[in-house]
Amino acid sequence: MEVIKYISEMRPLSRKLKAEGKSIGLIPTMGALHKGHLSLVETSIRESDITIATLFVNPTQFNNHEDFENYPVSTDEDLEMFRSAGVDIVFAPSKDEMYPAEPTIKIHYGPLQEVLEGKYRPGHFNGVGLVVSKLFNICEPDRAYFGQKDLQQFMIIKQLAEELKFGITLRLMPIIREENGLAMSSRNRRLSPSGYSQAALIYQSLVKAEHALKSGMILEETVAMVEDLFHNQEDIELEYFEIVDMQSLRPITHSDNSNELALCIACYVEGIRLIDNTLLNLR
Ligand code: AMP
Repeated sequence: MEVIKYISEMRPLSRKLKAEGKSIGLIPTMGALHKGHLSLVETSIRESDITIATLFVNPTQFNNHEDFENYPVSTDEDLEMFRSAGVDIVFAPSKDEMYPAEPTIKIHYGPLQEVLEGKYRPGHFNGVGLVVSKLFNICEPDRAYFGQKDLQQFMIIKQLAEELKFGITLRLMPIIREENGLAMSSRNRRLSPSGYSQAALIYQSLVKAEHALKSGMILEETVAMVEDLFHNQEDIELEYFEIVDMQSLRPITHSDNSNELALCIACYVEGIRLIDNTLLNLR
């Protein structure tokens, strides 16, 4: 496995591999790896000749400085995990390599950035779009793999790739969960054992909401039921639970005849922000 820190080495290597007729799969990550990341790696290895994983905690996507400062870093373990998973190349640039100067470009995604995470984390998707565009330009992959856990991130990147004609196939991969149902996340490392078990409520509430909707419960009641589950929870605070259209991510109403829904949730557990979602087809 090659570990590359510089753009001046990464781009020529990608171009050389492609000139040799090899297809490239890219998995952007911020490290602190878990099985969710590795599931993306496994799929890329199956589908592409060369798998490039990136390791970069992107400062521009953190709207909260404390969250950035506390983001777990475990580079040596991450490199070992990538190596044993069969990654060919890790691109792990420094902050100065990626952002030699304050970025001036601002990306506006229209309605897609006004909802869910976009509403609660202003500036977050601007940073995501900047870093993903840079990684696409530097690594020039054929395919790129993203997790459904960050559903809105995927939709945003899809829109960016379509509008700017990146010519990269984007793949959305299922959410990998802990045994108690909690969606795997680098941030879970910061939970205490009690926080970890209480956080199981996040996925449990999604499952309950899904069953309720399937058995005909109306939207408002379902939302109220989930909000109720979080009342009087000591260490969990619900930020939002929304039932949205899977494509536009806009909240659905009675008059919509959307059948493809996404149930999206964000919570603070012991002060740590966690998100999850589930997709539901009511047809
Ligand atoms: P991150 O390192 O958190 O930026 O995540 C890197 C990629 O892994 C993103 O595309 C995430 O959506 C994806 N990912 C994170 N958690 C999971 C999970 N539990 N299951 C599947 N993919 C995930």
